[in-house]
Amino acid sequence: MKDFSQITDYIKSLYPEMDPVLLHCPQFLGNEKKYLNECIDTKFVSYVSHFVTDMEEQIKKLTGAKCAVAMVSGTEALHMAFVAAGVKPGEEVISQPLTFAATSAVIVNCGAIPVYVDVDRDTMGMSPKALKDFLENNTKQAGGKCINKNTGRVISACVPMHTFGHPCRIDEIRTICDEHNLMLIEDAAESVGSFYKGKHTGTFGKVSILSFNGNKTLTTGGGGMLLTDDEELAARAKYLSTTAKEPAKWGYYHKEVGWNLRMPGVNAAIGAAQLEYFDKIIENKRETAQMYKKFFDGLGIPFVTEPENSRANYWLNAILLKDRAEREEFLEYTNSNGVQTRPIWTLMYKMPPYEHCERTDMTNSEWLEDHLVNIPSSVRTSI
Ligand SMILES: *Cc1c(COP(=O)(O)O)cnc(C)c1O
Repeated sequence: MKDFSQITDYIKSLYPEMDPVLLHCPQFLGNEKKYLNECIDTKFVSYVSHFVTDMEEQIKKLTGAKCAVAMVSGTEALHMAFVAAGVKPGEEVISQPLTFAATSAVIVNCGAIPVYVDVDRDTMGMSPKALKDFLENNTKQAGGKCINKNTGRVISACVPMHTFGHPCRIDEIRTICDEHNLMLIEDAAESVGSFYKGKHTGTFGKVSILSFNGNKTLTTGGGGMLLTDDEELAARAKYLSTTAKEPAKWGYYHKEVGWNLRMPGVNAAIGAAQLEYFDKIIENKRETAQMYKKFFDGLGIPFVTEPENSRANYWLNAILLKDRAEREEFLEYTNSNGVQTRPIWTLMYKMPPYEHCERTDMTNSEWLEDHLVNIPSSVRTSI
């Protein structure tokens, strides 16, 4: 097997405190314990805790979104975004095959059907060109709706994703969505702290979501946030995710079927603490990316850097190997020598629940699947 020891040695030197070096391990460097204790001491552990509203306010300030609604996970925030935006069962939703399965799972769990378009190689996010080509060749407008001529179904929304925190060409995608009467719903799960043309990711579409899962840039253990400038949509998402209970002095009355998906206070306490030093988290991660870039340039291995016009959070760093065989050798060597690495996700249409879905040519997605590997990216605490 090929000797990748120079690489594992270098990565271990960046994270001397970790053995093995994990792909993305959360670090708690601020008031996390203090705020958790406050939850326990005051007994405000549920979603009525002030930490939930504190966190929503801090996220609004960070992103510039008018409204932010905290949820139990990024997946459920996306689910509520779909429901509140009005995606209906039997409709189609355009997505990308290169994503974490949650994006597709939410589409299906809403009774909708995914349609996949290819990504760009540099951003790893939805390709505006592939989207435009698909729409121009396969859809027509009728009654203000976009109809897929191949299936006769309404395409109601388009869900691009900012892969590994690198912004996709979201402004071009927005223009195309507007031209074709599609709602733009951004899966910004991976890109808290990432900006495109000076604007935070997740603030370009009608609604978007962030994830604060344990392995993401900012964590609440498990958690997510719905972002929108549409106050009515935010209010509806909040109402539906709080069991759809009508406000009342006391008593219980529900006009609609709801869910119980709001973020508990104990989770928000961790997030509120992390947000106090979020600038430092991003600075640290961007510095790691610079160090990696220099190191891999020296080895002649392409390191994935932020696309044009963007400032990325570098959630998960990535390198591009020669081919599928080298990718497998690298994964085998690093994971058995104390450094956790992971391949990019299996493309959605290669897995049973999604293999029947309509899709465009996938040259770029297939290329990235063959070459890309993620490498350790946690906040460094000792060097
Ligand atoms: C992490 C992630 C999600 C889901 O977020 P959870 O908080 O884990 O539910 C959704 N989409 C993408 C692209 C993600 O990476």
